[in-house]
Amino acid sequence: MTGPHDSNGRHDHEPDALELRVQALESLLVERGYVDPGAMDRLIETYEHEVGPHNGAQVVARAWTDPDYRERLLTDGSAAIAELGFTGRQGEHMTVVENTTEVHNLVVCTLCSCYPWPVLGLPPVWYKAPPYRARAVIEPRAVLAEFGLEVGEDVEVRVWDSTAEIRYLVLPERPAGTDGWGADALARLVTRDAMIGTARAAAP
Ligand code: FE
Repeated sequence: MTGPHDSNGRHDHEPDALELRVQALESLLVERGYVDPGAMDRLIETYEHEVGPHNGAQVVARAWTDPDYRERLLTDGSAAIAELGFTGRQGEHMTVVENTTEVHNLVVCTLCSCYPWPVLGLPPVWYKAPPYRARAVIEPRAVLAEFGLEVGEDVEVRVWDSTAEIRYLVLPERPAGTDGWGADALARLVTRDAMIGTARAAAP
């Protein structure tokens, strides 16, 4: 399950150390006048508000309403996601895994916090926390139950360990009772957690 997180066998980032270094660097750059704190804020704003799970939700809704797109998405995630304009750092090598009545997919990064930024934005705190990273692999059903998600014993749970090279997006099951819905309405049912695999898409 675990493996090297880049070709050199290092993690691509160590959250705690990285955060400290970023803070130190940011203060220094601002203090010396190299960086405009406003520009920094806009960058953070971009990842908190513009780039976020609503991007992934559009991908999912399109897959639910367009069988050819779904096929392309499952065959080459990066290319199909780029068709909708979602590209960039941490999203170069996307694999999309589909939930069905037989399989439930769950995404984790056991070593750090690799996450598909262009479609989901920044990872939630629990995704980066050691308990989730360790337990998602060892006892995924117990973890899912804590998220309020019961997965039947007849359903296989597959856990995908993200790395710097491959990021995963879960294509959740389309909720019942949404026949005839358009992509925009469907997208509103697709939550961040549904695309990580710790929840289902919301019921209408
Ligand atoms: Fe990682």
